[in-house]
Amino acid sequence: MCGIVGYIGPQEAVPILLTGLHRMEYRGYDSAGLCSVSNGQLIISKRAGRVADLEKVLEPNEHSVKLGIGHTRWATHGLPNDVNAHPHTDASGRIALVHNGIIENYLAIRKQLENAGLQCKSDTDSEVLAVFIGMLYDKLGDLELAVQTALQEVDGTFGLVVVSTVDPDLLIAARRGSPLILGIGKDEYIVASDASAIISHTRQVIYLAENEMAVVRRSGYTTKTIANVATHSEIEEIAFELSQIERGGFAHFMLKEIHEQPSTFHDGYRGRLNIEDGKVRLGGLSKMQDRIREAKRIIITACGTSWHAALVGEYLIEQLARIPVEVEYASEFRYRDPIVNPDDVVIAISQSGETADTLAAVREARRKGATVLGMVNVVGSTIARETDAGVYLHAGPEIGVASTKAFTSQLCVLTQFAMYVGQMHGMSPELSRTIAQHIDALPGQIQEILDRADEMRTIAKQYARSTNALYLGRGVHFPVALEGALKLKEISYVHAEGYPAAEMKHGPIALIDENMPVVFIATKEELYDKVLSGIEEVRARRGKVIAIATEGDEHIKTVADHVFTIPSTLSILSPVLASIPLQLLAYYVAVERGCNVDMPRNLAKSVTVE
Ligand code: GLU
Repeated sequence: MCGIVGYIGPQEAVPILLTGLHRMEYRGYDSAGLCSVSNGQLIISKRAGRVADLEKVLEPNEHSVKLGIGHTRWATHGLPNDVNAHPHTDASGRIALVHNGIIENYLAIRKQLENAGLQCKSDTDSEVLAVFIGMLYDKLGDLELAVQTALQEVDGTFGLVVVSTVDPDLLIAARRGSPLILGIGKDEYIVASDASAIISHTRQVIYLAENEMAVVRRSGYTTKTIANVATHSEIEEIAFELSQIERGGFAHFMLKEIHEQPSTFHDGYRGRLNIEDGKVRLGGLSKMQDRIREAKRIIITACGTSWHAALVGEYLIEQLARIPVEVEYASEFRYRDPIVNPDDVVIAISQSGETADTLAAVREARRKGATVLGMVNVVGSTIARETDAGVYLHAGPEIGVASTKAFTSQLCVLTQFAMYVGQMHGMSPELSRTIAQHIDALPGQIQEILDRADEMRTIAKQYARSTNALYLGRGVHFPVALEGALKLKEISYVHAEGYPAAEMKHGPIALIDENMPVVFIATKEELYDKVLSGIEEVRARRGKVIAIATEGDEHIKTVADHVFTIPSTLSILSPVLASIPLQLLAYYVAVERGCNVDMPRNLAKSVTVE
């Protein structure tokens, strides 16, 4: 969520900070700001709106600037206006800070500051921290110590970077609960909350750990805990290429990512699934293999799109491994004192690996002694680090706020996990082989669907002005319906609901009239006839039916207003194919409505606050 960037080195800092902020725009934000340290002064420009708006109002600076910080804010405390935008300074204006996260005890600290005669200008929790650090600096005379002391008093989460005029050769970065990465270049350092802001400078990075800080000078850096114990963080390499975070000719990142799915899906099983014998090898889980084999129950916890993937995972695992599975929103799981036993395996799914609620659920499950596995996309992310073992999605950087390729990669990994556990419990080699062969056909089948994207564009045009939509599916397609509805809501702001098809008559049927588009996932599988009955019920009320159907199904054309066909596959794999036309439908509706597809209002890419 939001972005932080800081630079210290021999180059002009401002262009580097601005490029970094642009690269992080995809994460979703509402204001932007910069602070450069120049000739004994902090020069701050900040405002509500886009980074491009900030560029227009940058404070002129006659000196060359080699140190600075930048921020894109996603407001939690206080409106997204110019005053609340970051950076914030202490009361004397000598120390500036950018902050991601939430200072939960900011009211108590603000009271303490007010008692000391220090006022805040904004409504943010972040400014309270800046002023607090300033007060401590006045007392202690050492900026590093002041930051450490403040952070030990703070409850909540932070990724932050501090610069000052009191020591213009010093940049301090610290984290708890929000990601922060230190990029190590040649005689220069760039710190950011997202590797995309670093990669054009260096691939060598340190992922700061929880409660860790980096004290960075032009001559070098040290890392330590905020309690001042030295740490020895390993330098790692960023695994993706710059081209992967550029749009490459597509109108939007989301469209690019939809079209990447033949290869991202393939990357999810390459080297893991043997197509010849159907055997699954998940190297990342090997050290937990025995615990997984002995698991009495599997709990999958996630939020948003990942939660929908988890629901598909429930069908897959129960069907192939015959182990009971429960799926729970991470935000609910973390607070309800869930019953978790040491012989449970808990799986946390998150694209970013930083989702605050999912991370809290991971910690809760570990505290209760369960084996906790991660299925995340971002390498080196917090959930990847804090779980006992895991499987990366390998979908590459996902920039579009609405998740597409990460969802199909989650299905890819969950399918293999279900096979992996199934194979531990005697799943038949024939079934393994059959599934493997069908998985291996999916990239080509996804491509066939994408080649016909224009068909969906035509359908989307006709419904772009609808104000509501229903998505219905049964069995494994119920979560696909939920995901289809979520995609439409997220990027086109059209109200949409996903339901199990048979539930329609218990309520949502009241909504159906000639203005209501109803999307049915009506592929030729076990419950096909039942879904057809649902279609008839909608038609009888003059609702408009858009059916996602299996290639060669002639009958459906006689009952649906629009049919988009997908190739035939095993029913457990069919969600992968059925979700692609729904992504396209949401995308084209949003484009028709003139929405900002890659940065939908109010949404952030990685939700690192509660
Ligand atoms: N809580 C802070 C604010 O509202 C930081 C939000 C963020 O992470 O961007 O200003």
